[in-house]
Amino acid sequence: MTSALLEIQNLVKHYPSVKAVNGIDISLKQGICFGLLGPNGAGKTTTIEILEGIVEATSGEILYKGEAPGERFRKEAGIMFQSTALQDYITVRETLQMFANFYPANADINDLIRRCNLTEYLQQDNRELSGGQRQRLLLAIALVNNPDIIFLDEPTTGLDPQARRNFWDLINDIKAEGKTIVLTTHYMDEAYSLCDEIAIMDHGKIIAQGTPKDLLKANFDDVILQLPEAELENFDLSSFSVHKKDSHIDIMTDDVNRVIAVLIENNVSLSQLQIRSRTLDDLFLELTGKELRA
Ligand code: ATP
Repeated sequence: MTSALLEIQNLVKHYPSVKAVNGIDISLKQGICFGLLGPNGAGKTTTIEILEGIVEATSGEILYKGEAPGERFRKEAGIMFQSTALQDYITVRETLQMFANFYPANADINDLIRRCNLTEYLQQDNRELSGGQRQRLLLAIALVNNPDIIFLDEPTTGLDPQARRNFWDLINDIKAEGKTIVLTTHYMDEAYSLCDEIAIMDHGKIIAQGTPKDLLKANFDDVILQLPEAELENFDLSSFSVHKKDSHIDIMTDDVNRVIAVLIENNVSLSQLQIRSRTLDDLFLELTGKELRA
């Protein structure tokens, strides 16, 4: 018997041409938001689809509440897929009712409508929904069976910043009810804001796992000084640890005073200097060598 809600041991999925998931272990406590992050092709969706029972694993063990996922898991899990085709020519309310009919026990539909901010669009045809409205409807569908565990696969991709933040509020509300969330995302700020624990995947393996704060603390003891590349044109950067991004240079240092003194000595203008702490984006780049938003 395990105390974790979901326990995954040595999960493997090999396709003829690629080891999509190559031996991962995850132990998921009840009531947390767990983020699965990784570059394109890392194996996130394959992992989630194995957990959801859509893809069959090559090997490994999955336990939900101490048992192999079966009827109980199907009743207690809610899924928001990366892309879902909604039926045309029916309204938002009809869509929710249709999905509710698939389950013997449901959440209160009116409560779902209110919480997912769908009241104004109830009579609207699915074809007429904006991106944000559609994502909120898909979340309501994932919640229609009042699940204990909810899988959200890149739920805010394509939303504008305001719609993303509204969506985060919704996810936090769900978390506050004690539900467990498994989230995949390409947005590090989203993972930082929502997730109690994250796992970073690359090439089918988990390469880092922990709370966002602990991971940053364990990997970095420096800060970043950012300057426009043009300001550093005549400055020799060879003795510094740097990273070029767009038209900016990031200088990584654990001694801000020394770097600033050297820059001033060399007449570098600091009028556009920005100093920032390390973020999950930096961690991701450091661990995978890739920018996250490919
Ligand atoms: P993304 O961020 O782009 O969604 P991901 O991390 O979700 O990527 P997966 O979709 O899990 O990655 O894919 C992992 C690897 O497995 C990729 O190399 C992909 O091409 C491969 N793969 C996925 N599904 C199949 C399949 N049905 N047949 C063969 N290879 C597959």
